[in-house]
Amino acid sequence: MVTVDARLSCRCGKVQGYLRGASARNGSHVLCHCSDCQAFAAFLEVPGILDRNGGTAIYQTLPGRMVFEQGSELLRPIRLSETGILRWYAGCCRTPLGNMPATPKFRFIGVPLAALPGVQGALGPPIGSFFSGEAPEGTRPPADFGLFRVGRRAAIRHLASAIGLAPKGSPFFSNGKPVAAPQLLTGDWRSKALGT
Ligand SMILES: [Zn+2]
Ligand SMILES: [Zn+2]
Repeated sequence: MVTVDARLSCRCGKVQGYLRGASARNGSHVLCHCSDCQAFAAFLEVPGILDRNGGTAIYQTLPGRMVFEQGSELLRPIRLSETGILRWYAGCCRTPLGNMPATPKFRFIGVPLAALPGVQGALGPPIGSFFSGEAPEGTRPPADFGLFRVGRRAAIRHLASAIGLAPKGSPFFSNGKPVAAPQLLTGDWRSKALGT
């Protein structure tokens, strides 16, 4: 089992840190083809986030595994709806950094691999893929264990953290509040981003 402390970096290098113990065991490498991830990529307007099928490669893990050593003041969140998840990016160069519930109570983050340069080999192939609707031809990874397994793994990680067997905390929250105020993207903007 490969376990590494993976380098965490935005594209321009102002945001730097690491993800402790990046491995297939400590998280789930998935592909997300949902329209919200596509809207986020459209908002960021940086190349290389989506693969040719419109999927984002993501490593789902505990936020407590993430450590920012510099540039944490550049963290910015958006939400696609009033009750939506927080989608963090680097304010300097718009690299996506993580998608998470808007409360630190549920210990979950999906880190786009765009923020984890060089980690891929440690994570193994994707074990699940998500779609807003029908999966287009050719977009499912060969070993797709789907939502159930990936959700169960997230619940187990949360519990392991809650009882002290896995890292706690989150660099994205301070005293229960996001470290930067979320920007709400409106329906109009979202439609424009998705070209619908
Ligand atoms: Zn940057
Ligand atoms: Zn998604």
